[in-house]
Amino acid sequence: MTVDQKPLLAANWKMNPVDGGEALALVKGLLPVASTYVDRVEVALFPPFPWLLGVAEVLDQTGVKLGAQDCFWETSGAYTGEVSPAMLRGWCQWVIIGHSERRAYLGETDDMVARKVAAALGTELSVIMCVGELDDHYEAGKTDEVVAAQVKAGLALCSADDSARLVIAYEPVWAIGSGKSADPEHAYKTMRLIRRVVGEVIGAGAARKVRVLYGGSVTAANVESYVELPLCDGCLIGGASLRAAEFAQIVKVTAEVYGQR
Ligand code: PEP
Repeated sequence: MTVDQKPLLAANWKMNPVDGGEALALVKGLLPVASTYVDRVEVALFPPFPWLLGVAEVLDQTGVKLGAQDCFWETSGAYTGEVSPAMLRGWCQWVIIGHSERRAYLGETDDMVARKVAAALGTELSVIMCVGELDDHYEAGKTDEVVAAQVKAGLALCSADDSARLVIAYEPVWAIGSGKSADPEHAYKTMRLIRRVVGEVIGAGAARKVRVLYGGSVTAANVESYVELPLCDGCLIGGASLRAAEFAQIVKVTAEVYGQR
């Protein structure tokens, strides 16, 4: 993270809430706190596609950012069900690519992730690329090997010029939605590895602008233990981001920790 950049808190709502009115109520609930701290913490909300437009209207002029949970690599054409980066540009600033749920349930490969990352960055969106090891990898001590390979493959087509709009989220798959958050020491070591690999792929200078997040069962109770890590530039939050008061507390804690740096 450079001096011009802020820590990032990314709220991944996944396929929630089912009701559009609830989506707007959630934004309105967290907005007073999130907008109060926009000078210290970058907050980005990632609702499901159908709620993006309504949420964009509520976020207008607040400084809180909006993102999509995925996008395709082509701009237009015969790709039923897909949404292109060009369709998001203008009212979304962010997109998440390669979330482990997409890799697990929708067969998203490293090659697809690389194409999506390059297309989104090329369309001037900011990208959070997710990487992380499965439980079996973790138990077998293969975290570094797996995560390094995902980072290398995912960045294979991207340009170093876009590094300020690139974020890598380290999300151990076994920690996502499980309540089993990673030991901060493990998170720290893996984020350090990610930084090294990013430097190898796009060059050390460009890599300094790439923010690295932790994700996996982050709550208001444990967020401090991650954001206080020297190499951690914020968090990707799923479940706790659906609770407005808890997410607001996460924003507050993060602002306080980075305010003391
Ligand atoms: C996520 O959706 O990427 C995530 C980390 O979820 P949770 O915070 O619920 O573990």
